[in-house]
Order: sequence, then structure tokens, then C-alpha cells
Amino acid sequence: MPPITRRRIVQIMPLLGAGLAGAQTQSLLQESDDEAKAVAYHADAAKVDPKKHAQYAKGQTCANCGLYAPDGDKPSGGCGLFYGKDVLAKAWCNAWVKKTG
Ligand code: SF4
Repeated sequence: MPPITRRRIVQIMPLLGAGLAGAQTQSLLQESDDEAKAVAYHADAAKVDPKKHAQYAKGQTCANCGLYAPDGDKPSGGCGLFYGKDVLAKAWCNAWVKKTG
């Protein structure tokens, strides 16, 4: 194996950075995931049946939930309930809590 030169380090640093950035991309929570089913996660809050989910109130979405962490202008962001997975801003689950502040 050839010695690692300063020149070689300069060449591979951008690749390492891209790899790390890619590793930070969170996967999107799916309705079919067990943890999503546990809280009746709906990828589209507009499709929640209020007869099945009495706690749902029109207008509630992840975007206005106190557990939601927006990611800039992206249509998805983090949720305090789901480590390592993003949720859609337009989604809803039965753990929705009013955002304060
Ligand atoms: S807890 Fe809030 S942000 Fe998380 S999935 Fe449920 S409604 Fe969305």
C-alpha cells in the first residue's frame, strides 16, 4: 500500500465529507413500520378518519406538533418519538401535542 501523502489526503477529503453527509440522511418513517402503527401514524393528516381517531382535530399535522423538528424547507423533519427516522410535515399521529411558545 502506498504511503498516504498530503496530496492524497487533499484528494479524498471531499469524498469523506460526502460520505458523512450521506450517512446523516434519515430514512422516512413508513405507515407500515411497527413504531408508526403503534401511534396510528398517517403520512397524510388529511386522510385521518376522525371516527377511528377521536383525538384527531382538523388542522393537526406534524408541522404544528410540539414534537416536530423542522429541517429547513424540507417536507419532512425529525420527531421526538422516532429516533433516526423523519416524519412528513403533513403527517399526523395520535401522540400529537400542541406546540408551545
Ligand atoms: S408526535 Fe407529532 S411530530 Fe411526531 S409523528 Fe406524531 S404528530 Fe408527527
